Parts: sequence; C-alpha cells; structure tokens
Amino acid sequence: MHRIASVLLVALATTAAAAAENAPSGKPPLAVLTDFPGGSAEVVAIDQARRLVRIKPADHPDRGWRVWWYFHVTGIQPGEVISVEVMCEPFGLPDHAAVSTDDRRWTQTAPGSRIKGSVTYHHKVAGREVWFAWGPPYLPRDAADLIARAEKACPQAKGFELCRTLEDRPVPALRISPPDGGPARPPAIWVQARQHAWETGASWIAQGLVEWLISDDPRAATLRKKTAWTIVPIMDADNVVRGAGGKNEMPRDHNRDWDDSPHWRSVQAAQRGIKEMAGDYRFALFLDLHNPGPNEHESYFYTGPRDTLSPVQIANLDAFLRAASAEVRGPPPFSGIIRESGPTYDKDHWREIAKNWVNRNSTEAVAVTFEAAWNSPAGTQDGYRQVGRQLGLAIERYLRNKPE
Ligand SMILES: [Zn+2]
Repeated sequence: MHRIASVLLVALATTAAAAAENAPSGKPPLAVLTDFPGGSAEVVAIDQARRLVRIKPADHPDRGWRVWWYFHVTGIQPGEVISVEVMCEPFGLPDHAAVSTDDRRWTQTAPGSRIKGSVTYHHKVAGREVWFAWGPPYLPRDAADLIARAEKACPQAKGFELCRTLEDRPVPALRISPPDGGPARPPAIWVQARQHAWETGASWIAQGLVEWLISDDPRAATLRKKTAWTIVPIMDADNVVRGAGGKNEMPRDHNRDWDDSPHWRSVQAAQRGIKEMAGDYRFALFLDLHNPGPNEHESYFYTGPRDTLSPVQIANLDAFLRAASAEVRGPPPFSGIIRESGPTYDKDHWREIAKNWVNRNSTEAVAVTFEAAWNSPAGTQDGYRQVGRQLGLAIERYLRNKPE
C-alpha cells in the first residue's frame, strides 16, 4: 500500500516537474480543473511550452450529447495568451468561446480557428486564472439568485421548489401571481428552460424575461397585474450540475418524456403545475426555451402540427407569432421562421414533446418551443437577456390585443 502510494507520488512529482520544466522560463505550469458544479472537460493534452490546453467535453455515458464544456485554468502568467483547443461535435464548437475571469461575468473570445472536429481559441488573460465554456454557464445558484432578487423587487413574486430530481436536487421555480383584487381568472403563462442541459442560453433568456417582468417598464407592470406566471429556469438540474449535455439522454430525453407517465420528476411536476394553472386560471401560453444547431443564425419557433390544433388554437398561435415578429428583434431576430414538430420531425416521439402535450391538454393555449440562435457575438449573458425581455414584450403585446 505504502509502496504503491510512494511510487504514485514519485510519478506525480515527476509529471509536475516535467510540466514545470516544459513551461517557458519563469512561467508556472497550466492546470485544468473541473471539480465544480457544471464543470466538464477531459484533458487530452496540456502543451506547457505552447501554453495550449486541448480538451474534449467530459464523457458522461447515457447522459446525452457530449457537447458541453466548462473548465477552470490556473497557472497563468498575467498578460499571457492562452490557447484552448476543443475537440467535439459541431454543436459543441461555437465560433467564440465564453470566457470569464471570475466565473460569474462572461464575455467572448475572438473567433477561434476551425479545422474539422475542433476549434482553437486564443485569449489574452489578465489574471492568474480563467474559465472557459461553450457558452455562459447558468447553474442552480444563478436560478436561486434570480428568484431571491424577484422576491425582493416584486411583492407578487414567490419562489418555490418545483420538485426534487431523481438525484435529490431541488428544481427552483418562481411564481408571479396577480395582486389581490386582480381578475378572477387571469391568463396563465408557463415558461421553462433547460430540458436540454447544455443549452445554457435558454436559462439566460428566462432570466431576462423575469427581470423585465418585475421591472418598472409600464408594459411589464400592467401585464403582471392581470396574469399568472410560473417560470422554471432549469428543468434538468441533475445534468446541469453534472456538466452533461442532456440531449438524447437515457432512458428518455426530457423533451420526449411528456406522456401519461413521465420518467423525470421535473416533467411530472410541470405537468401537474400546468394542469393546476389551467384549473385556477385560463391557461394561455406555454413557452419552452432552447438553443438550436450552430448554423442557425435566426431564432425560430417550433409549433405543434397545425392539423392537430383547433381553429381557436391556430388563431391564437398566429396572433402570438405576429406579436413575436414585432418584438423579438434580437440580435439575433425572430423574423417569422417557424417549424412544425410533428411526425415528419420525429416519427416515433413527436407526441411526447412538451408543447405537443400542452396542445393536447388545453383548448386555447399557445404552446411553442423557442430556439434561440446562439453562435454569434450576441450569444452572451446580455444578448440572451435582451431576447428574454423581447419575448416578454411579445407576450404582453399578444395578450393586450387578444379578444376576451
Ligand atoms: Zn433543446
């Protein structure tokens, strides 16, 4: 036991010494850390001499696409340029990497250089450490902060736990209810993000929508007096914390789990919550937030197949899409692109997509998936938050113009 340990120690010391020796004179060895919520990287190599870190997203078998990466680099000499090569599927290879010096406030690197299967980003780092990620991370702590701020700013806002996950993590959520003396059966709106854990832009959009909704904007103030909201910034908390992709995970993708016996607790709780809202209020709108493929340069909506919708649902859907075209100017904009997710989109499981379940279980609600284009300089915390605000304005416009 002791002998093995000491051999291991010698090996580690030798590796560290070799790393330090390879580093250019006076520079400390670079190290990659991922032991924190959401962290994800498998280190392929660290070239100390070239100050290059080569990684793949961590492998989480059965936990969905291997496209999410988020890691901490230490050992930087302030002012030096660090290179990061990410080897991955195209969905995990943005033109710009997200980068942060404090793990809270994220900007972007310059565009990376792309070859088949990888992108290399170069970034001059001012301090001794830096974080890189596919996009700005959004963790349960961010959802908790948002909910606490909403409760403080708005007496109508109240946080609650949607459920606990199969791994016993809380799924934080926010209700914004009409004040006492408001309408008897106001329109109800359900907004959720991150059925797919890697799509962090979706959570930032939910955040921007909430920030607008609790703000002083007169349109927001009027809207929250006469509507009821539930907002879930992170549906798949387990994969978000694990740092896994989530999309197409086993045994079921969250967004193919919406049948009569869902596997995932957050889907079970969302179905219950939507049914409760439909009982207490008039269920008006379901918005499921996502990020699409890397080559989509405009945001778009998936809708239910029109031949499955009632005339009222179709009229409401078209009115909402008109309001969204007017308000969601981006960047990136929504200029009217819609796609249907019916049998030609997913022959076997289209019925188990969230918004299609909502359509089946409501009479007049608009139920849509929003796919926010991300692979651009606007794919930042502020860019997404702006799109969230614009979606809030679209909802306000839609409901204001809707005949009772
Ligand atoms: Zn998605």
